Amino acid sequence: MRKPVIAGNWKLNKTINEAEGLARQLVDKLHHVTRTEIIIAPVFTALPAVARILAGSPLQLAAQNCYPQETGAFTGEISPLLLKDAGCKAIILGHSERRQLLAESDELINRKVHTTLASGLTAILCLGETLEERNSGAMFEVLTRQLKVGLAKLTPAQMTQVIIAYEPVWAIGTGKTASTDQAQEVHSFIRGLVMGLFNQATADNCRILYGGSVKPDNIDALMAEDDIDGALVGGASLKANDFCRIVEYQA
Ligand code: PEP
Repeated sequence: MRKPVIAGNWKLNKTINEAEGLARQLVDKLHHVTRTEIIIAPVFTALPAVARILAGSPLQLAAQNCYPQETGAFTGEISPLLLKDAGCKAIILGHSERRQLLAESDELINRKVHTTLASGLTAILCLGETLEERNSGAMFEVLTRQLKVGLAKLTPAQMTQVIIAYEPVWAIGTGKTASTDQAQEVHSFIRGLVMGLFNQATADNCRILYGGSVKPDNIDALMAEDDIDGALVGGASLKANDFCRIVEYQA
């Protein structure tokens, strides 16, 4: 069975002090959780401090991005190897904000996935359609391209270290959540794609998270769907009580 994952993407928020405060509250409230994998992704500067607070707890640390090289003359970049050194277990890749604001291509994201896995970290690969793509009927084509190129040249063994996050762009930070039917439809489509690209066992074992205005009041219904294995949470992950209620969803 697939172990659920609830991941918090803190985006560009919180000083080191503030991040430490939130991390301490989460460890206090969630230290007993075993049913679900819990991941939090603070800004780069807060990673070592938060790693010290999470040590010995079930919460895992993630970064929000990386460069697809381990070391070298890449001014201003950060590598999976160094993120691992800072305490990270996973990296969020291909978030729609990076695709849109920083023009990240599927090919670049694929290189980041490979470098992340080579460093022994989990890749959380984000994909999702814009409202225009959904309304024009291009949604499945867009998702297919993002997934196929994003996962290119991976083996089934490497796929055990990949988590997919379906995040419809129109639902991120907008307060509009995909309906449970809309989300389940796409999750099932993505699982079918993974089966076609790899095999049945890889598809059965692949965790597919939903992201897009996940809140305490919609998580229960989302988690009741067969192909929704967890959530990637933005805004609500910045509030300890909201994030804890999402982790302790009832399905
Ligand atoms: C996200 O940043 O991945 C996200 C889903 O944000 P929000 O929950 O705020 O929509």
